[in-house]
Amino acid sequence: MSLRIGITGAAGRMGRTLVQAVDASDGLELGAALERPDSSLLGADASELAGLGKRGVTLTDQIATVIDDFDVLVDFTAPAATLANLAACREAGRAIVIGTTGFSADDETVIAEAATAIPVCKASNFSTGVNLCFKLLETAAAILGADSDIEIYEAHHRHKVDAPSGTALSMGQVVADTLGRDLSKVAVYGREGQTGARDRDTIGFATVRAGDIVGDHTVTFAADGERVEITHKASSRISFARGALRAAAWLGSREPGLYDMQDVLGLKA
Ligand code: NAD
Repeated sequence: MSLRIGITGAAGRMGRTLVQAVDASDGLELGAALERPDSSLLGADASELAGLGKRGVTLTDQIATVIDDFDVLVDFTAPAATLANLAACREAGRAIVIGTTGFSADDETVIAEAATAIPVCKASNFSTGVNLCFKLLETAAAILGADSDIEIYEAHHRHKVDAPSGTALSMGQVVADTLGRDLSKVAVYGREGQTGARDRDTIGFATVRAGDIVGDHTVTFAADGERVEITHKASSRISFARGALRAAAWLGSREPGLYDMQDVLGLKA
């Protein structure tokens, strides 16, 4: 029997890509498609909107009316919408995959609390390549970190509303954790004017927003005489969608808990 996937933000950039990816996946079917209450697309066929033929699942803003139509909800929307969908999933005992970024520390607490009751998989980046980079960053930080200046560069399309990207922050967190540093104390998010010389312990972030860039990330470890750069470039959203659906299939049979893509890929030592 197919696993039924609910997709929120189904008319958005990631939502449409997820609808396409479900359609192309064996063992998965689209169970429900949600959009925000003021969307002009409510009632439209979600698959047709994603460039496919009609499949009969129409966009709704009422999660309660479709809660029995999916096994796992995949949510790439905005923080407030995700928290409302999380609450609905918790009440109904549904698993949820969260791809939304830009949560506050309080939001993270709410998500962790909900994960005591339902399976939740949350990742700032669901691509397999980026999750491999997290692993490579651990090794690079352990070997080079103490003697290097560490800088994280990210670039995304002009529509992205949060900065630095959730992926850049996760990369910083991996490096900081490996080096025993507190990211909230060592992160430098912008430089301008008389900044003074660089403090070796800081981790710098640089953000570019331009055109239709899907997502570029580079972490530089710059020592005296050499530097190592670990780079990932996404050329299509399909890598995030495939990863999120892999997480949904994995999550379908888990106990309640807060998981991430490293768990799904078995990358946790
Ligand atoms: P988008 O603006 O194209 O799509 C978001 C969609 O959510 C829109 O269609 C919007 O109408 C809808 N939405 C907003 N409120 C809603 C609500 N209450 N109920 C239902 N739908 C609602 O944005 P996007 O580029 O698809 O990105 C969405 C989110 O996913 C962002 O936070 C982005 O940073 C994140 N993202 C994460 C990954 C990852 O791998 N984790 C990858 C890409 C994007």
